[in-house]
Amino acid sequence: MGKVAVHWFRHGLRLHDNPALLEALQDAKMFYAIFIFDGESAGTKFTGYNRQKYLTESLLDMDQQLRDVGSQLFVCKGNPIDIFTTLHKEIGLTHLSFEQDCEAIWNKRDNAVRKLCSELGVTVIERISHTLWDPFEIIEANGGQPPTTYEMFMQVVKVLGDPPKPSPDPDWENITFGDIPDEVAQKIKLCPQVPSPEEQGYTCNGECPVYTGGEKIALAHLQERLIVEENAFRDGYILPNQVNPDLLGPPMSMSAALRFGCLSVRKFYWDVQKTYQKINRGEPPASHSMTAQLIWREFFYCMSANNPKYSEMKGNPICIQIPWYKKPDQLAAWEEGRTGYPFIDACMRQLRKEGWIHHVCRTVVSCFLTRGDLWISWVDGLKVFYKYLIDADWSVAAGNWMWVSSSAFERRLDCSVCICPVEYGRRIEPTGDYIRQYVPELANFPQEFIFEPWKASRAIQKEHNCIIGQDYPERIVDHAEASKSNRKIMKSIRNRLKKPPMHCAPSDPEEIKQYLRLPQSCFHNVF
Ligand code: FAD
Ligand code: MG
Repeated sequence: MGKVAVHWFRHGLRLHDNPALLEALQDAKMFYAIFIFDGESAGTKFTGYNRQKYLTESLLDMDQQLRDVGSQLFVCKGNPIDIFTTLHKEIGLTHLSFEQDCEAIWNKRDNAVRKLCSELGVTVIERISHTLWDPFEIIEANGGQPPTTYEMFMQVVKVLGDPPKPSPDPDWENITFGDIPDEVAQKIKLCPQVPSPEEQGYTCNGECPVYTGGEKIALAHLQERLIVEENAFRDGYILPNQVNPDLLGPPMSMSAALRFGCLSVRKFYWDVQKTYQKINRGEPPASHSMTAQLIWREFFYCMSANNPKYSEMKGNPICIQIPWYKKPDQLAAWEEGRTGYPFIDACMRQLRKEGWIHHVCRTVVSCFLTRGDLWISWVDGLKVFYKYLIDADWSVAAGNWMWVSSSAFERRLDCSVCICPVEYGRRIEPTGDYIRQYVPELANFPQEFIFEPWKASRAIQKEHNCIIGQDYPERIVDHAEASKSNRKIMKSIRNRLKKPPMHCAPSDPEEIKQYLRLPQSCFHNVF
């Protein structure tokens, strides 16, 4: 008997830079690629239509690429334990490979599979390629605890050295692809083809995602993105997506492709480094600064790796316990884009429709829901993000929500001024066209009032076909009053915190600016 290898795709939906896949293929007598709809893998437990569609497209792309080399992606439904037990018995599975899913939420699934394989004598090939570094190695290098500040994190990874370069592409010559006989197909609920979101029970209610899933598209998109990076380097600046938040420009983010692993983070990292060196005559950059955002991603993954309560407030050792209000009506108004604050509503409606919003929009809506205005729990907001965001990561989303709501990461409950839902929007996109695009009720409103339509006189409202309180909602909260009283509550909580939790905080104001990605003109308002 030779090596009968199955590569189990979960995230990491790509053929490039896939070290676990490469090792599975090495000397395999028979090879199978499999994806399992188990009700949770690849984030399917919380997903809405847009993310499910992205996943479907990614699986179709993978299936097509495998068909091009003479095989296919076997998509089945059920419990991985039952399926691998069957494959061991029926096709003689000897090697099971998969990419490390480092978030604590996957521990139960992967521990069970590791245990099964050890019982069956199946060799597990698990490799790290979803992150630049192994989060567990970082934790070990830091003495058993994750580094609690970004600055400390940078120091630890400096000791570990550069992240590995991407692995070579697989060589399909001499690989024999296995087939699955009908009676086995029935047992593992093999799908005749990749099921559509509709076949999986999702319905499209006007959603229209701006990102399409799949490795081929992700790699082509990366080439476009590298041109943007190259132009910025040539003009003498870095982080172009961050420096000029462009809410109406073409979608340039790689975040969904990174979440599903259609694009390798190591490829992204090293291609940006190479682009920098090309422009700077081979000079390597002095620091990780031009890929700083990727390091934030690593940081949040690392913080969550040993913390299964990371997405909750209660029982989460790094999270400050804050007595948030329960206000289902206001929560619904926020989720549905009916707060009466046009910039907030534009962001939430774009999120629901397109499955993606810019970082500055995520920041302003999460602040508004939590410490800024409504004083509703970040956990409630997080669930909404999990549902609508195509790039939703269990840990990255939770980490960011804790940060913005002052529950962790932020200087302890110490944001002096909260983000104003009117001024912030005006600074980021002063023309109001972003609001006009996503809040059509206000499409005819003049620029002067579009961020604060309640200030327009009744006559102006009539003239521009939008009566506030009738065609577009009244504000559900007065920002000036709410933020003032919220700040008071934060202060009293801070004073009462005798023994604060092990708290992660930004190292300095520079880090806060970088995290919030505010244009220079906003800074005075935040500190
Ligand atoms: P690109 O420049 O194309 O790629 C950079 C990559 O760096 C991103 O894809 C992402 O993986 C990473 N990154 C960038 N900013 C951050 C950050 N603040 N924290 C961690 N990683 C970062 N990003 C997600 O990928 N998934 C999420 O679920 C998510 N939830 C968020 C929730 C809130 C409340 C906030 C404020 C931010 C969240 N972010 C999340 C971070 C960030 O908004 C997105 O990564 C970003 O909008 C991607 O666009 P980009 O053009 O900067 O990405
Ligand atoms: Mg960016």
